Amino acid sequence: SKRLGSNEPCRCTEDMVQAIKRKHRIADILRSTIAEDGFQIHYQPIWSIPRQRFVAAEALCRLTSTELGPIPPAEFIPIAEETGLIVDMTYQVLDKVCKFVKSARDEHPDAPLESVSVNFSAIQFVQSDLAERTLAIVKANGIEPSSIKIEVTESVLISNPDTVKQLIMAMHEVGIQFCLDDFGTGYSNLSNILDLPFDVVKLDKSIVWMASERDFEGSDFLGHLVASFKAMGSAVLAEGVETQAQRAFIESCGCSLIQGFLYAKPSPQSEALAIIAGK
Ligand code: C2E
Ligand code: CA
Ligand code: CA
Ligand code: CA
Repeated sequence: SKRLGSNEPCRCTEDMVQAIKRKHRIADILRSTIAEDGFQIHYQPIWSIPRQRFVAAEALCRLTSTELGPIPPAEFIPIAEETGLIVDMTYQVLDKVCKFVKSARDEHPDAPLESVSVNFSAIQFVQSDLAERTLAIVKANGIEPSSIKIEVTESVLISNPDTVKQLIMAMHEVGIQFCLDDFGTGYSNLSNILDLPFDVVKLDKSIVWMASERDFEGSDFLGHLVASFKAMGSAVLAEGVETQAQRAFIESCGCSLIQGFLYAKPSPQSEALAIIAGK
């Protein structure tokens, strides 16, 4: 093999060049979508086991460009985070979610939609005006703060847990609710988690899928875990439920909320509302 030498101009492959170009292109698309306030949002209905109906939904941001077609969140969210564009993106998503809640109340008074979840990125929690701006958007739309749930992952606590706790407490005190997202993946610092007022703990789909396998031996453990969260005042939601076997297992563990393709896929506002209203 060739040694790295000064007469070797670039070891970049064509693929790497293309990947970097695509990243810059997506950052540009994010910038112009923010300028136009043009994000599309899909809503995935959330099913309550005790009430046997949909009670909530999660807002999931969608990005499409004429040139690149639909760009998956797994690709554009990290770019939005790296560029800091996630901050403006999230405020726009939150504003649209508040308007969705309001129109659901006005146009479908019989729809049992209690709250809608919005994903917040860990990097937003370095912004000291996060609570102020978030509350201002909710207030400006004239909806109850308890209609909004903010979803964060454990990574939110990696740096400056004290500052992050203060921001979360400030929003929680006025009624905004919090979900611990993707529980069971990544690192877990239980003392940090137990210190925060999580209204809902969302079991990651990897746990749900693993747990529904025939030879899974951790069902007692999961049952106790769910009971412990309940005792702490958190409802437990299972993500990624795709099969009846997974649903049955999740119910046997004592989870009270289910979000998964078995019940409903993310869909645009009017379709999601029709599903939630049972029409
Ligand atoms: P997440 O917050 O864990 O959202 C749930 C993801 O699981 C969604 O993927 C949803 O479509 C998918 N899902 C739901 N039920 C099922 C199921 O039964 N089976 C399978 N296989 N998947 C299911 P999506 O929409 O592609 O979003 C991926 C991730 O992108 C989200 O994961 C979230 O971390 C991030 N994301 C999406 N929208 C936003 C946003 O507005 N802000 C931020 N910060 N992140 C977002
Ligand atoms: Ca989420
Ligand atoms: Ca999740
Ligand atoms: Ca996630």
